[in-house]
Amino acid sequence: MEEMVCPMCGSRYFLSTRSSKKVVFRVQFDGATYFTEIAEETGSEDDIARQEIFCSSCSWHGAIDETIASR
Ligand SMILES: [Zn+2]
Repeated sequence: MEEMVCPMCGSRYFLSTRSSKKVVFRVQFDGATYFTEIAEETGSEDDIARQEIFCSSCSWHGAIDETIASR
C-alpha cells in the first residue's frame, strides 16, 4: 500500500505531541492514520493534531497534507 512520508527525509513514522503520550503513527495514501506496533501505548485519532505533526527522524513538522507519497 502506498504511504505518505516525510517530505524532508522520507521517514514513514510520525509523532504527535498534542497529548502527553508519545504517539507514533503512519499515514496512508488517503490521509488516514494508523498506529504502529512500536507505539508505547495505543493511541486514538483524537491524539493526532493533523495540522501539526512531527517527523520521527528529522526536524520536519507540518500538516498531514504536506506529507508526500512514497515511491
Ligand atoms: Zn523527516
